[in-house]
Amino acid sequence: LSLFKRVAIIGFGLIGSSLARAIRANGLADSIVAIDRSAAVCARVKELGLADEVTQSIAEGVKGCDLAVIAVPVGAYSGVAIELGPHLPKECIVTDTGSVKQSCIEALLPHLSSPERLVPGHPIAGTEHSGPDAGFAELFRGRWCILTPLPQTGIRAVEKVAALWEGAGAAIEIMEPRRHDLVLAITSHLPHLIAYTIVGTATDLEEDTRNDVIKFSASGFRDFTRIAASDPVMWRDIFLNNREAVLEILQRFNEDITILQNAIRRGEGDFLQQKFTRSRSVRRRVIEAGQADPTAKS
Ligand code: NAP
Repeated sequence: LSLFKRVAIIGFGLIGSSLARAIRANGLADSIVAIDRSAAVCARVKELGLADEVTQSIAEGVKGCDLAVIAVPVGAYSGVAIELGPHLPKECIVTDTGSVKQSCIEALLPHLSSPERLVPGHPIAGTEHSGPDAGFAELFRGRWCILTPLPQTGIRAVEKVAALWEGAGAAIEIMEPRRHDLVLAITSHLPHLIAYTIVGTATDLEEDTRNDVIKFSASGFRDFTRIAASDPVMWRDIFLNNREAVLEILQRFNEDITILQNAIRRGEGDFLQQKFTRSRSVRRRVIEAGQADPTAKS
């Protein structure tokens, strides 16, 4: 069933184009407008035929829309909000896909004229690839989409955005924005920081060793290189915009790793084994929760 007449998707990369594909595949809207500042992205979206209209102009693109979805890196939100605000049709709902919620809300809210239209969201689905070619309609199937409505957000708006994500195959969880940011700091942001660090440390080693690292990468390092191949702009923006939560989690992580470091130094095998056994049961719970797909992240 069609939920919206005309949906504008601002930022037509992995997430924006996947949502467009899912909307098309499931008949969730009558028409889709692709908006991207990049001429190359717009040309490619036309070639792929992913939208009914394609434009670089936010002002043009949102005309007549009843839903605007912001799917740009979180550092670009203020700029998008300034362009979007004055041109939003009266009844148009606004939602987003940003990986951080509190800072995104703060960037958007002052420009939307009526706060009840804003339904902040974050689909917990992605890959390390970017751009419109990387998207696919099934990306959100079996994944969570977290919505973090504000006290002012209209219930009808939340229901419609929830129905859109459910139509794309996702399950909805409602959360407080700050709680979202803390949970994601541990489940997604810290793991990416660790991956970037390990790959960076390995890359800093001399040429011979680096060759060996690539050669023997099957032994754990490979999984980190996949995570560390994620979009640099997107991840720069996530760390700058979720600074407090990431620093809090990082502090705890540093304390825990120091404990492991001491255990290794002192040869406390029992302690290490006990820690690793506990982790193994966490892996079992992730599999049982249906969240173990290797391509699903962030
Ligand atoms: P992406 O593939 O890099 O696509 C982002 C697109 O937005 C690019 O085409 C970019 O164009 C465009 N853009 C940037 N600034 C813009 C602006 N001011 N106006 C219009 N378009 C602009 O990124 P993505 O992976 O889809 O991520 C999009 C959002 O979803 C981010 O906020 C991210 O945090 C969130 N998210 C990502 C994942 C994931 O795993 N990738 C998962 C869940 C949520 P240029 O190429 O010119 O910069």
